[in-house]
Amino acid sequence: MTRSDSISIIQNSPPQNTTHLEFASLAIHAGSPHDPVTGAVIEPISLSTTFSQRNHSQYEYSRSANPNRDNFEAATTALEAGARYSVAFASGSASTSMIVQALLAPGSRILASNDVYGGTFRYFSNVAKAHGVTVSFENLRDPELIRDNWNDNTKMVWIESPSNPTLSLVDIAAISEIAHQRGAIVVADNTFLSPYLSNPILLGADIVSHSVTKYINGHSDVIMGVASFAHTRHFEKVKFLQNAIGAVPSPFDCFLAHRGLKTLHLRMKACCDNALAVAEALESHPAVTKVLYPGLASHPQRNLAQKQHRKGLGGGMVSFRIHGGYDAAQKFCRSTKLFTLAESLGGIESLCEIPWSMTHAAIDETMRIEFGVTENLVRLSVGCEDAEDLVKDVIQAVEKATMGGM
Ligand SMILES: *Cc1c(COP(=O)(O)O)cnc(C)c1O
Repeated sequence: MTRSDSISIIQNSPPQNTTHLEFASLAIHAGSPHDPVTGAVIEPISLSTTFSQRNHSQYEYSRSANPNRDNFEAATTALEAGARYSVAFASGSASTSMIVQALLAPGSRILASNDVYGGTFRYFSNVAKAHGVTVSFENLRDPELIRDNWNDNTKMVWIESPSNPTLSLVDIAAISEIAHQRGAIVVADNTFLSPYLSNPILLGADIVSHSVTKYINGHSDVIMGVASFAHTRHFEKVKFLQNAIGAVPSPFDCFLAHRGLKTLHLRMKACCDNALAVAEALESHPAVTKVLYPGLASHPQRNLAQKQHRKGLGGGMVSFRIHGGYDAAQKFCRSTKLFTLAESLGGIESLCEIPWSMTHAAIDETMRIEFGVTENLVRLSVGCEDAEDLVKDVIQAVEKATMGGM
């Protein structure tokens, strides 16, 4: 093709300034230029590690920047409203560690939700310490408590909302206001909601971190992370450290994650509808002692969910306590047919697990009980199957699990 053809194709590409579009249009078009050489509507996977320096390419070496990563980051920035930059990582865990290492000097202290993701808990407890960063785990559900637990070294507040696996919420606006008055950085792990349900930067957070592995990719076939930033100074430090350390995702993973991101709104709507149907069915079953779901009127922070989540949607995660203890929880997870017994979450397929003995087993027993992670707690990641089938599946499994034990 001639050079003038390729120029006309560039001009026919989707507008690069897409900020006026709504979520679904952004998900599909942001960071998705047509290929300027072939006109391909879907950009190719750019596997080259190095780029010719003769034709003024914006790229030099793929650890520093790669077209597929750039496009995925641009799309994430467009969807995580309020963000100005995004940096994609080889995992959600890499995102956590890069943020902490790049932005906190030795001697700093992090105030974190006491029920953060297990891997975050492990990094904070065992690894950050080696860099001279200490972490204080607090119940951030009560914003006033963070005033009491503040000291001069507190430089970062790490929020996870909803929490895992008890699905309690944190008032991001209230916490951010207190933290900013004291000059600390506010980071929100938004993995459980995805940018479709909540945009923490609009509520006051400085940085949003995601395990892309979950809802953003959504198909359980990529491990990846991404952080989005409101401020240039945070972005530049993290970007510099990422290149220095090399915690980068592959072009193929960026391509897949970007493909997943394009249907995030469709999948999240389906997950939320299905999760609500499953939560309601469980709540009305006598063998279920408690359902924890921010989309139910019975959730103690339902008002906050209505304030912080798009249309007050509850998300795709549902936890519940089953009558009959650990035995019943185990039987439930062995009896489901559509829900697969597995860790992780956020994919199109439904999963179930017992946090007590699986995702949260590494946490000290007394702490687990204090956080509400009891032996009879079951966590569901509700996927995109038909609601009728999912409801039938959990109800028959509850009945099998508690038969004769009621
Ligand atoms: C999975 C997860 C992480 C870690 O992400 P990886 O991609 O597995 O490294 C961090 N935070 C939350 C809330 C998660 O669910």
